[in-house]
Amino acid sequence: MKSDELNAIYDKIKSLKNAGNLPLTSPKPLESTVRLIPDEKIAPSLFKPSQLEPNVYYATSLTIRAVKKDIFMAGDGFKDLEMIMPCLSCAKKLDLQFWKFCPFCEGKIAN
Ligand SMILES: [Zn+2]
Repeated sequence: MKSDELNAIYDKIKSLKNAGNLPLTSPKPLESTVRLIPDEKIAPSLFKPSQLEPNVYYATSLTIRAVKKDIFMAGDGFKDLEMIMPCLSCAKKLDLQFWKFCPFCEGKIAN
């Protein structure tokens, strides 16, 4: 998932006002507003945004377990921290800042 997409979505939510002209969202970290829902039809390592709720994403249960949850509250600086390493089992190239283990095969990522 791209962080700038997430931020753009979140900025849009923040700009919405309810009938009392108060922001709909509290200034909590983005992390607490994002929900990941298992859907085994999604390709591994991908997050599909919900069409109905902007802060809901679908991914396979393995992808949800493998992803580092704190990426959802991180803002800028992803590129600086990029650390591409191969999975030791399937050799897929993975970015260590996003994954605890391989979202494709559950294998260990080289470190
Ligand atoms: Zn793998």
